[in-house]
Amino acid sequence: MRYLESAVTLEFLPERCVGCGMCAKVCPHEVFRIENKRAVLADRGACMECGACAKNCEHEAISVRAGVGCAAAVLNGMVAGTEPTCDCSGNSSCCG
Ligand code: SF4
Ligand code: SF4
Repeated sequence: MRYLESAVTLEFLPERCVGCGMCAKVCPHEVFRIENKRAVLADRGACMECGACAKNCEHEAISVRAGVGCAAAVLNGMVAGTEPTCDCSGNSSCCG
């Protein structure tokens, strides 16, 4: 599932990034990548707004309106008759 790139609430302030790599580690959709010891937005449109990256960034380089994507994933699951399909249910540092 992808969102319209312009509709994603994810914001990244590269000047605050220290390159710890947590965002890339916790993101279930590989939205962030570490390049030259800094995070870069590799695929912003793949963000499903779970909030894991912002929650795990100690330097407040990331903001996102969390929850919208997870709600959509739950609704998708209901329509399809499956479990929620946000791909992050197995990652304890993700949703919540
Ligand atoms: S978690 Fe924050 S400080 Fe760490 S790499 Fe990502 S954006 Fe940079
Ligand atoms: S909000 Fe979730 S899906 Fe979006 S970039 Fe952050 S960790 Fe990845």
